[in-house]
Formats: sequence, structure tokens, C-alpha cells
Amino acid sequence: MRRLVFVNVLIFAVLVSAIGLAYYGYSFASEVSSRERAIISDTMRELGQEKVDGIESQILETDRKVFDSIALEPLPDLQAVVKTHGAAVASVFVLDERLQVVPGGYATTRSREDGLAFRDYFVSQIVPTLPLAAQPLRTRGHVHGGWGDRPFLFSFTRRAWGDRTYYVVLEADLSHLVGAVFPQFFGVRSPRLYQVVDESGDLVYGIPFSDRAGVLAVELPFVDTVDHWTLRVAQKDSGAQLARSRRQVIDFVLVGLSLAGILAGLGFLVLAIRRERRANALKSDFITNVSHELKTPLSIISMFGELLASGRTRGAAQATEYAEIIWRESVRLARLIDNVLDFAKIERGVDAYEFAEADLGEVVERALELSRHRQQQAGLTVHATIEAGLPPVSLDANAYTLAVLNLVDNAIKYAPDGERIEVALARRDDRLELTVRDFGPGIEAEEHGKIFERFYRARAVRLRPIRGSGIGLALVDHIARAHRGGVSVESEPGQGATFRLWIPAPPPGEADPAGEET
Ligand code: ADP
Repeated sequence: MRRLVFVNVLIFAVLVSAIGLAYYGYSFASEVSSRERAIISDTMRELGQEKVDGIESQILETDRKVFDSIALEPLPDLQAVVKTHGAAVASVFVLDERLQVVPGGYATTRSREDGLAFRDYFVSQIVPTLPLAAQPLRTRGHVHGGWGDRPFLFSFTRRAWGDRTYYVVLEADLSHLVGAVFPQFFGVRSPRLYQVVDESGDLVYGIPFSDRAGVLAVELPFVDTVDHWTLRVAQKDSGAQLARSRRQVIDFVLVGLSLAGILAGLGFLVLAIRRERRANALKSDFITNVSHELKTPLSIISMFGELLASGRTRGAAQATEYAEIIWRESVRLARLIDNVLDFAKIERGVDAYEFAEADLGEVVERALELSRHRQQQAGLTVHATIEAGLPPVSLDANAYTLAVLNLVDNAIKYAPDGERIEVALARRDDRLELTVRDFGPGIEAEEHGKIFERFYRARAVRLRPIRGSGIGLALVDHIARAHRGGVSVESEPGQGATFRLWIPAPPPGEADPAGEET
């Protein structure tokens, strides 16, 4: 009992450790992978921020220079200012406090006609939407947005000239920004992919990269300039990322498999322990049964032997009767010992069989002959039908006789009230099949499999005083398998039982199909 508790505690401990280990493995693997991802995304975020800052400071620097170069009187040559700043500035406006363009206060990189049209559009449509008057003096404000269906970036400042206020508004050249500045910052040889998208997620710059699961991407907004746009950074070597996520999957699968392996092993162990305990219980039953079976014939032999030896018989006929009893019991004893010895041999795994070509019909007849005396004692008639001309088969005649004898003995032992037993040997397709049918109490369906297990005795017989050891059918099953055949039972309680013992037969030759009654 204490051992059982110990084993159960041990199994429980292994189970808990396995689950703990699996949990640790799982959380370690996922922590490593999330830490890796965090490092990568931090690096990307840092780099992205550097790019955003670089681009924005370039724009701010240009704006500052332009703003600083413009005074109200004298107004510098704005066309020259625009030119000085290359393509970064598309137009410059100088507005008075009524938000009208001062004379000479407009320059643009557009053609003359386009330039005039844009100036009108700017004054009528754009200026009223810009928060110019609210802009603190000498500071830079900006608006990024769409007018019409085009995006613009305007930077502006409010300045004072004496008691007059004026505004300088710059239109940034967005096509220059996208076409020249962005490529400068987002080199194609970088191990990262850069993309600039607008507020609806449409690509403004860069090549599309898919939002595949597992592809790490970070987003950084522009703040002081094109603030409707966002920079997206992704890792270019998606191969390495794929490998990383594959490794993570492999890690999880391995952890899962090891856990499943340990659990399966434990389950198997529990089953094995249970089976072993059952076998031990059955074995001790077996020892009790066998001792009992040995003791009964021995005491009968010694009792009648003693009667004979002391001459206490009433005539020669009685002496013969006593001698017969002694002989019968010793035959029974010998058979039991045969069974036990063969069984022990099989249990030890010793190759117990010697095969030779033999006539199965003869083997069956010999077994019936050996049990003749018991049949008579039980008052049973055996009807045997052995098909003539059966081909010889390779078998161990002694072992097979023992198997047949066990089936016939069982029929005699368990079904004497059926009054007859039918034994038939015939070819069925590619096998020779022996059926032993009795008309006794039969066997419950759920015990059909169990009765072939060693030491198992059916519930019904355990309650009746029928002697047995529970190894007979286990032996039959072993012998049948060793001959590459098998044994099965068909039975319903109250309807008798039919045992089928079969062995593979060589292909049919010129056999005489006529049956023969014995
Ligand atoms: P034993 O006869 O020594 O108990 P066996 O292995 O020969 O052991 O048989 C196992 C069990 O199968 C028997 O205990 C009995 O319950 C059942 N059994 C075997 N043959 C028959 C039969 N012909 N009719 C009913 N029960 C049977």
C-alpha cells in the first residue's frame, strides 16, 4: 500500500515537473522572441526618428533662411530668393495685414501663366484657411493638407515692420521633397525598407511592402512639416524574419512534442502498473488454483493407493476400480503439469515449438482419444467430423494436441449438461479450421476477449466449484499464434460456446472432399 502511494506520488511529481518544464520552455521561447522583436523594432524606431528629424530639420532650415532673408522694405527680389533655395521652395508670398499680396510679393517656380492662376487660387481659396493672424510674431507655423485634390505644405511667419504687420508664406515643393529629399535619406542599400504613406494609407514614397503576419514594421509621424504623412519602416531581410518565426514555431512544436511524449510515457506507465497489479492478483489466484488442482488428485491417489496397499478391497473388481481411479487422476495430474510447464516455458520466452509436417486430422483424433475417458466419465458424446484428404501442415504435434485437448477438456468441464460436443475439422478457404462446439452455459460477450488472457477465469465459473487455473486458453492462443493461426470464440449465455482454432493451409491440391464420421 505504501509502495502504491509512493508510485502515485512519483507519477504526480513527474507530471507536475513535465508541465512546469514545458511551461518554462514555452515562456522562455516566447520571451526570447518578443525580446528580439522589441530590439528590432526599437532599432527601427530610432533610425526612423533620425530620418524624420533629418528631413524636417532640412525643411525648417530652408524656411528659416528664407524667412530671415525677407524684409518688408526694401522687399528683396523674391524670384532670386526662390532660385537660391533650389527646388525646395515652390512659391513665396508676402502678404500685408489685410492678407493681400504686397506689390512684388510673389515669386514661383511655375510658368508665368500657371503662376498667375495659382496666385489667384492661393489668395481666394487658401489664404482664408491659413491661421496667419493667430501666428505669434517671428515664429514659424505650418499647414499640411489638401486643397482641391492636391496636397500642399505651407510654412508661414508673422513679422512686424515698424507698426505694420506682414506675413511670409512659403509653398514647399512636395514633388522635390518626394523625388529628391526622400531618396537621399532612404537609401535603397539600407537593410530596412522605408515607405511614406498619407493619412488614408496610400503610398506617397517607396515600394510597397506587404503587411504579412510576422513582418515587423514601425510607424513614425512627421510633426513639423508634412504632418499628414507617416514614415513606415520595415526590416528588409524578411528571409531572416521568416527563419526566426519558423524557429519559434519549431521551438513550440518541440516543447509540445516533448510534453506529449512525457505524458504518453506516464500514461503508458500507469497502464503498465495497473496491468502488472492485475496480473499479480491473477497470479496469486493461479497459484491457489493450481495448488488446489494438484492437491485433489494427489490426495485421491494417495487414498486409493493406501487402500490397495493395505489390501482393504472387496475382490479383484474393486481393486481394478481403485487402480483405474489412480490411473485417471495421475493422467489428469500429468496434463495439468504439462500445461503449467508449457506455460512457464512460453512465459520465459523460450522457443517452445518444434515444427514438422503433420496430419492435423490425426492430431485431433489423438487429442479426442486422450480425453475419451473424461468424456465417458462426464456422460458426454463427442461427434467428430474430420474432412478427409486435408493437406499436411507444418506444426508442433505435441503443442497442437495440447491446444485441442484444452478446448475439448473445457467443453467437458464447463458443459457436461449439454450432453454432447461437436468437433469438426475442415478447410475454410486458405486455412484449416477446427471447431469445438458445446451446448453448455456459454460465455458473456464482454468476457470473450478476456478468457484468452492468462489466469483469467470467467465470473460465472468463479462462483461454481469448477476447478481450473486460467492458463488453458492463454496457452491455446499462444500455440495458435505460433502456428501463424488464431483462436476465437462465439457464444451467447445459455446457448453453448463454439471455439474456432485455425491454422493456415497450403493451397488446395487434389483432395477428396468426402467427410468421415468417428
Ligand atoms: P480454466 O479452465 O483453467 O479456468 P481456461 O483458460 O481454459 O482456464 O479458460 C478460461 C475461462 O474461460 C474459464 O475459466 C471459463 O470461465 C471460460 N471457458 C472456457 N471454455 C469454456 C466453455 N466451453 N464454456 C464456458 N466457459 C468456458
